[in-house]
Amino acid sequence: MTPKTATAIAADISAAIHAPFILHTQRPVSGGDVNAAYVIADRNGAQYFVKLNTTARISMFEAEAAGLREIAQTKIIRVPQPICWGTGESSAYLAMEYIELASNSTAQNQVRLGHQLAQLHRVTAPRYGWRINNTLGTTPQINTEHDHWPHFWREHRLGVQLSLAAHHGYTGALQRKGEQLLADIPIFFTNYRPTPSLLHGDLWSGNYGIDAQDSPVIFDPAIYYGDRETDLAMTELFGGFSENFYHAYRDAYPLDTDFKTRKILYNLYHILNHLNLFGGSYLRQAEHMIDRLLSEIR
Ligand code: ADP
Repeated sequence: MTPKTATAIAADISAAIHAPFILHTQRPVSGGDVNAAYVIADRNGAQYFVKLNTTARISMFEAEAAGLREIAQTKIIRVPQPICWGTGESSAYLAMEYIELASNSTAQNQVRLGHQLAQLHRVTAPRYGWRINNTLGTTPQINTEHDHWPHFWREHRLGVQLSLAAHHGYTGALQRKGEQLLADIPIFFTNYRPTPSLLHGDLWSGNYGIDAQDSPVIFDPAIYYGDRETDLAMTELFGGFSENFYHAYRDAYPLDTDFKTRKILYNLYHILNHLNLFGGSYLRQAEHMIDRLLSEIR
């Protein structure tokens, strides 16, 4: 980012923390798929993690900050504390606590992550959804609250992604089978009524790390209150969580036996989102998942 932008953000941080923070260095960080990211530091070695995007993305940062706060206030699992956010001349930013992250998972920190996620899922709300809409990648995620989970999942999750896919030109078989699946969603919930649990919402292995005290840290959330199986399903989608994690989770908060089917229904949301964001091979994967789901209930 330009020195002018970095200096202005440093001044905002200083105002937010009620202490001097004068920009000395900045360095780019790689790894995110949505935003440019930097670590900025002062002469005393104080550091902050800053995400940058276009000014139109400010509401995405506001929602991310609110999501981090919602998890932070449970005091169950470490997240970076959001510090401040705003818009400058040509960009929007979100500044948060910088946490030195390692990726070396050990049996111990995987167990801890499993236990902490189970505890987080025991934080509940009266209804499914959340008071703020947020984003999954850059796709809007609608969190309008609802009392009926299958309805929520159909209207605000799979239905939205399928409509977006049609808009992107993925018509034909995907839409035909998708419509069928939407109509059949209640069948997957015949004997199952999930509690509205506090979810990370985008829990793949790129969104957790381990801090210097060997404690798990989760970041980049797309939170809402919903079925905890959705978080577990996503951990399996791209891998990166060990057996120790799953044992610890199930030990602390056992899963329903039909999770093995519903997890396909839940991961379909992420695969459709990948189709909408990145296109390509995700079309075949999405169709294959829908076929499997329809075959389970026919
Ligand atoms: P994006 O919103 O672009 O997906 P991420 O939140 O995933 O960005 O962050 C990109 C990378 O930066 C992560 O993979 C992680 O390694 C690192 N990171 C994220 N948040 C912090 C933080 N608060 N402190 C230090 N590093 C972080």
